Amino acid sequence: MAEAADVVTYREVTTIKHNLQTGKAVVQLGDFGEDEADLVIGADGINSIVRRHLLGTENFCPQYSGYAWAGGCMDLESFY
Ligand SMILES: Cc1cc2nc3c(=O)[nH]c(=O)nc-3n(C[C@H](O)[C@H](O)[C@H](O)COP(=O)(O)OP(=O)(O)OC[C@H]3O[C@@H](n4cnc5c(N)ncnc54)[C@H](O)[C@@H]3O)c2cc1C
Repeated sequence: MAEAADVVTYREVTTIKHNLQTGKAVVQLGDFGEDEADLVIGADGINSIVRRHLLGTENFCPQYSGYAWAGGCMDLESFY
């Protein structure tokens, strides 16, 4: 099992399950085995498998919001 500070890249999350005995999330990483975690943060984009797991397949379909563009400007110096 990965330690808290491990960063693992180039692994596709294929399924997420809930281990009812441990209360943890079990993340399947394709052919690379699985990992258990207390917390899963879904940052996997518009076709998020994490969202699919949480909301179910029937609530998964992304829908066009009608926005074509959104943006803004700010003074770069306000960063510093
Ligand atoms: C052509 C184009 C132009 C855009 N231009 C702008 C712009 O000018 N300004 C702007 O603000 N926004 C723009 N956007 C939108 C912006 O790219 C997205 O809103 C933003 O990238 C979303 O970030 P995210 O982190 O949610 O997802 P993403 O950037 O999509 O990142 C998701 C990551 O998760 C990974 N991933 C997905 N599924 C899995 C999985 N099962 N297992 C493991 N990893 C997985 C992906 O490989 C990816 O690295 C543009 C989008 C497109 C397509």
